[in-house]
Amino acid sequence: MFEALSGRLSGVFDGLAKRGALSEADVMEAMREVRLAMLDADVALPVVKDFVNKVKERAVGAEVLESISPGQAVAKIVNDALIDALGGAGAVPLNLNAVAPVPILMVGLQGSGKTTTSGKIALRLKTRERKKVLLASLDTQRPAAQLQLAQLAEQAGVVSLPIVAGQTPVEIAHRAMDTGRREGFDVVILDTAGRLSIDEALMEEVRQVRAATQPAETLLVVDAMTGQDAVNTAKAFNEAVGVTGVVMTRMDGDARGGAALSMKAITGAPIKLTGSGEKLDALEEFHPERVAGRILG
Ligand code: GDP
Repeated sequence: MFEALSGRLSGVFDGLAKRGALSEADVMEAMREVRLAMLDADVALPVVKDFVNKVKERAVGAEVLESISPGQAVAKIVNDALIDALGGAGAVPLNLNAVAPVPILMVGLQGSGKTTTSGKIALRLKTRERKKVLLASLDTQRPAAQLQLAQLAEQAGVVSLPIVAGQTPVEIAHRAMDTGRREGFDVVILDTAGRLSIDEALMEEVRQVRAATQPAETLLVVDAMTGQDAVNTAKAFNEAVGVTGVVMTRMDGDARGGAALSMKAITGAPIKLTGSGEKLDALEEFHPERVAGRILG
């Protein structure tokens, strides 16, 4: 991921590095290149505009220390702006500050990796934080999805809520929370039904489950490979149900990275975790400063 963007940006700074002093014209020229590179990487247009304006503001008139070249000076400013766009320095942990059992609501489109990610988070909380986790599938449309979650729970060594045919998603959510309270679970992960595309019935279902359970986190799962579509999906989910964190999957693919760079600006919520494979341990914290470092090589 980010290879093409990274390659193009380093070209821009190499060009600048050869010049003696940093003029406004140099910065403008470099920013034109940065703009094109970001658009090609599928970063959302308003995000690109904001990014370029910020960098221009900081770069024009910035004092270039004698010890570094103009290219390095602009690269540092771009690096800081990338970290800002990615959500600010430091990983943002999952919020588990609520009375146990803490509900975590998983939302997203079908195929985004939502169910797999539910299993990954369960495993992570169990092994790293010694939490007792209950997984519950609210996907009443697809019995296969409920079975998939039960299998993932078994692999992760956590409990899944028994499947009861005929219940509505809200009824299942209540049953999950009741079981969580009664049996002393720390966290209940509620895996909502996905759809192939955004629809109002899906959003209404999520809103009802949210109202019924008051989750500490509403995590949106999006597929990094879908680029601009991921951004549009995030915007729609955030407007309809509110999102507190994003999990971006398929970071192991060759996505151009624009979705990751757009998420914070579009949803206001940070990317908290990323998926990098199909296995249950392929889940990482998202560190904006490391990602910015990777983009700038
Ligand atoms: P859901 O419909 O959103 O619940 O999606 P699933 O969890 O069923 O995932 C769909 C497919 O994507 C499955 O084959 C997963 O193994 C795969 N998948 C999920 N996350 C990742 C990831 O981070 N990287 C890769 N390469 N595959 C993933």
